[in-house]
Amino acid sequence: MHVHAFFAMGIMIVALVGFLVRTWWVYQIFLSIATVPFVLCCWMLPETPFWLLSEERYEDAQKVINTMARWNKVNTPCKVSELCSVQQEDPVSGRTGENDMSSTKKHNILDLFCNWQIARRTITVWLIWFTGSLGYYVFSLSSVSLGGNEYLNLFLIGLQYINYFSKYGWKIFNRCGIWPYISLHSRTVPNNCKITCCWKWKHDVPCRKCGCSFLCISEKRLDFHATWQLKKKGCACPWTAGRLAGCAENHTLFPQLPVLSEKVRFFFLCLCILEMAAPKVAVVGAGVIGLSTALCIVEACPSCSVTVLSDQFSPNTTSDVAAGMLIPHTYPGTPIHMQKQWFKETFTYLFAISNSAEASEAGIHLVSGWQIFRSTPKEELPFWSDAVLGFRPMSEAELQKFPQYRFGQAFTTLKCDCPPYLLWLEKRLKAAGVQTYNRKVSDLWELHSEYDIVVNCTGIGAHQLVGDKKLFPVRGQVLKVYAPWVKNFIRDGDGLTYIYPGIHGVTLGGTREKESWSLSPNPDTTKDIFDRCCSLEPSLREAQDIKVKVGLRPSRQSVRLQREVLSQGGVKLPVVHNYGHGAGGFSVHRGTAKEAARLVGECIAALRGSSPGAKL
Ligand code: FAD
Repeated sequence: MHVHAFFAMGIMIVALVGFLVRTWWVYQIFLSIATVPFVLCCWMLPETPFWLLSEERYEDAQKVINTMARWNKVNTPCKVSELCSVQQEDPVSGRTGENDMSSTKKHNILDLFCNWQIARRTITVWLIWFTGSLGYYVFSLSSVSLGGNEYLNLFLIGLQYINYFSKYGWKIFNRCGIWPYISLHSRTVPNNCKITCCWKWKHDVPCRKCGCSFLCISEKRLDFHATWQLKKKGCACPWTAGRLAGCAENHTLFPQLPVLSEKVRFFFLCLCILEMAAPKVAVVGAGVIGLSTALCIVEACPSCSVTVLSDQFSPNTTSDVAAGMLIPHTYPGTPIHMQKQWFKETFTYLFAISNSAEASEAGIHLVSGWQIFRSTPKEELPFWSDAVLGFRPMSEAELQKFPQYRFGQAFTTLKCDCPPYLLWLEKRLKAAGVQTYNRKVSDLWELHSEYDIVVNCTGIGAHQLVGDKKLFPVRGQVLKVYAPWVKNFIRDGDGLTYIYPGIHGVTLGGTREKESWSLSPNPDTTKDIFDRCCSLEPSLREAQDIKVKVGLRPSRQSVRLQREVLSQGGVKLPVVHNYGHGAGGFSVHRGTAKEAARLVGECIAALRGSSPGAKL
């Protein structure tokens, strides 16, 4: 079987181990152990004849050639002198050898079709190369991170590779079949390279200027690249020197292996030590809070091994339903200065994204509009007025657009298109090496044997998961419509009716139904929402592609953002809670995520200060 088949098997072993072993450092150790026999195998392989020749170890080279001949069942092994035909003397026997220079012939691409047999091989090799490369690169192009199970994707890559090489590889690229391959790759050989006696894998390259020649060797190596060696080391001719400077490789792989494997082993050792030392953090929940918290943890503690576990990912979370408008909701149980800080941090973070090339992919954009009131509110200047842009009372002229309303505030804020933003967060997490798993957690304690710290970002799911009776759903029904002419947001100050234009559609809202757990859209509510919004913006009557969405706001008097230590039978598990963002999760997500990451940092510090057995 061809060496590439081993490569394919390696890929599949990696996939299988990854699938079965879910703890990162155990996975590393398994893979390191699996590598050792292969490294040893490679170590036992002899140097290639060409390397030995370049070292002028002619007898050793002849021995290797003889062994290769025995393995290949060739009765008459070629002589070192044949490989070095440009030399006048047979280096092993001392006899004078033939100089092949006379028989050299300049080859061109048509030689690949000089007779039917060679043409057949050429076409076969080209087809294999084409389909193999096509298949392989199509599969490998971010294929691991495509949808579905990433280990299955990796396995398929390996499978594809094994098919490519095991079926045809050895049969085609054997000693006699090397000719088309070398010629195919002759683009790596200087233009005037003469290929003589190709099946013996030898090219004599004469120097046009001084007539001296040097040996250019193509050999069947692990990856078939050509290996080059200078025959006459003393040649000072600039042409020869120039040619050689263009040669990318002038050594074989094998003599490097001991050094390489040392480095590989050292790398794996460091990796294992790092992985063992790195605290393992599980973030439960993949809504905007879970994903942003995981990202903040990785940013604050790059050595942490972070995993996101969730029974639902985008587009099936409450966060996907949200309008994603950055207008804070007030939490009565949380100090205002804290809410303001969370909002400012979130605004600054998203504002930077909106100013970057990633704005469109992340679904973040600035939007201006009005918040209108039927009567002047008690608090004319909300706490967040200096965090948004250009906050000011509406002018009389502006208010004429809304005859039913007496007072209004105009400002520019940010809006997230929620599903793209969640996908963008997931992409950032993957790039940072965070693993994500589809898993329903019934009890946080079930994670104690796998993780050092657990972060609870389960939104309304925390009601059942941790039995939080202070957490209740506030049902929200919204419509997502196509109305690209609507450019400004309009929000009734009571928070019930709103029109929020996004990059891809406009969100029309809404409802706030306390303690309702129903996720089924209500057709009467749909009509009511549509009518209310049309009364504020009559052009919406022309809106198309109306979709109805329902979500449960995870509401609480205050966001639960705190540390807790679970304990059973003397074993402890530090937990950081970050849930209960109610109607304002998007508006404060980055701020609360940063705070949660800080709490995780405290847990890590506590872990490091405690005995290895105890988690805190
Ligand atoms: P979720 O998005 O619900 O995520 C919770 C995650 O935890 C999910 O992935 C879930 O699968 C997972 N999970 C739960 N239980 C378990 C378990 N036992 N095991 C494993 N995984 C579990 N906010 C704003 O700031 N601006 C707005 O304009 C806005 N508009 C809104 C409009 C509507 C109609 C609604 C419903 C909400 C709106 N919100 C808005 C509020 C915002 O959507 C929420 O505050 C926010 O989505 C909460 O995010 P979360 O990550 O905590 O919850």
